[in-house]
Amino acid sequence: MSRDDQKDSKPAKVDAWEQEFLSQDSSGYIGAPSKRYRCPKCHGVLQLKKGKNGSFWGCENYPSCDYSANDEDGRPVRAKKYFCPLCGGQLRKKSHKDNTFWGCSNYPECKLTLEDFNGEPSSSRKYPCRACGHYLVRKKGPKDYFWGCIKYPECKHTLADDRGCPVPRKLR
Ligand SMILES: [Zn+2]
Ligand SMILES: [Zn+2]
Ligand SMILES: [Zn+2]
Repeated sequence: MSRDDQKDSKPAKVDAWEQEFLSQDSSGYIGAPSKRYRCPKCHGVLQLKKGKNGSFWGCENYPSCDYSANDEDGRPVRAKKYFCPLCGGQLRKKSHKDNTFWGCSNYPECKLTLEDFNGEPSSSRKYPCRACGHYLVRKKGPKDYFWGCIKYPECKHTLADDRGCPVPRKLR
């Protein structure tokens, strides 16, 4: 629960509704303890809530408005949704010691896990398996990362990894 893990890699892109908020806030309440963020869906006030996986922002009009956003240093940041290439369930970011990865929300029925790559599940861009038509996922091998089929061990197709992307086999 440390607040010291701020990253410098925040995207510079500011959502329109955040921009709207920033312009609202220029009236002098610098350092006000409770900033008000408005819901982009219904213009209600967003509230910081505690969930199972940490704090998040939800709309005051919940449950009639289901907008929610991730909390990043006290600011709402819209959560991107990623889906499991195997079963279509939603992927959730998990961390275990120093290791961050993505797991399927249908666990334990679906045991798919994906490496985290710059905050995204590594196969959110789907790379089809040429051998069986399913998908390749990035895995950590004894030496290096590689891409293996999600149907392993039924399908043993693998490709080498180059900075987060599978390297297509050279055509000879
Ligand atoms: Zn709302
Ligand atoms: Zn799944
Ligand atoms: Zn395959």
